[in-house]
Amino acid sequence: MPEGKIIKALSGFYYVLSDDGTITQCRGRGVFRKNKITPLVGDNVVYQAENETEGYILEVIERHNELIRPPIANVDQAVLVFSAVEPEFSTLLLDRFLVLVESSEIKPIICISKTDLTTSEEMHAIQNYASIYRKIGYEVILSSTKEKDSLYNLQPHLNNQISVIAGQSGVGKSSLLNVLRPDLDLKTDDISTSLGRGKHTTRHVELIQIGEGYVADTPGFSSLEFLNIEAGELSYCFPEIYRIGAKCKFRGCTHTSEPKCAVIEALSTKEIEQFRYNHYQSFFEEIKDRKPRY
Ligand code: GDP
Ligand code: ZN
Repeated sequence: MPEGKIIKALSGFYYVLSDDGTITQCRGRGVFRKNKITPLVGDNVVYQAENETEGYILEVIERHNELIRPPIANVDQAVLVFSAVEPEFSTLLLDRFLVLVESSEIKPIICISKTDLTTSEEMHAIQNYASIYRKIGYEVILSSTKEKDSLYNLQPHLNNQISVIAGQSGVGKSSLLNVLRPDLDLKTDDISTSLGRGKHTTRHVELIQIGEGYVADTPGFSSLEFLNIEAGELSYCFPEIYRIGAKCKFRGCTHTSEPKCAVIEALSTKEIEQFRYNHYQSFFEEIKDRKPRY
């Protein structure tokens, strides 16, 4: 039986792309309703073709993860778009998104957009942040739609992956997709209007092919999302705190006030940046009273 990937779901039909590039419009089978599995965009499936263009999905191959918004299975990475200016670059917001993405076990890539609009002083600050995040271990790409080459730097990272693009409204997510796939002509908005209301009201989600990879046409994650983890898990979402925290005197050190905490000691040598630690602490406060889930 042929296998393929669902790249679009609309009105009860699943559009399944096979390795040879053909798309088959498939219906689900009753078995999904019995097992309460709803096939999702991103699912790898086994299907039966009825003719050249239509068929049935027979089986959904086990997912490695599943996002709720947008509803996509098997997401590999999230491209976090943050503008250098307009709106202003915020490490607090970036760190919140990083925690959301890390806690979903999805690989983040940081893309700092609109570098063409910066003063040299602002650009200097952005370069400095970029090197801090790179040192932590993140991929950081600086981009501007005025210099298309900067966006082509992102493209190789999308190959062989399913990616979602995330970030506040107005940072340039649709503009970025438009550079990489000019034929799609996605709607972009003036910042004045896009900040006020949710302009993206797409009902269905679709994967669009960019190079050898797939990107959801609907943004994922949002700054308003709840940090859905326990305080004890927070350090996993700060790679440098997690690494250095292995040297703390106490097992289960929360790195907030314990003596001989390697994380707190690493602040003076700048192995851990003060602002990252402050964000860790403020997220810790936010979630510390949660009851353990297990
Ligand atoms: P989205 O809400 O994240 O999808 O943002 P849009 O792609 O709609 O962009 C918001 C506004 O920023 C639009 O007016 C874009 O033309 C503008 N914009 C996006 N990227 C850049 C960039 O790299 N440089 C400049 N100068 N403007 C940009
Ligand atoms: Zn510690």
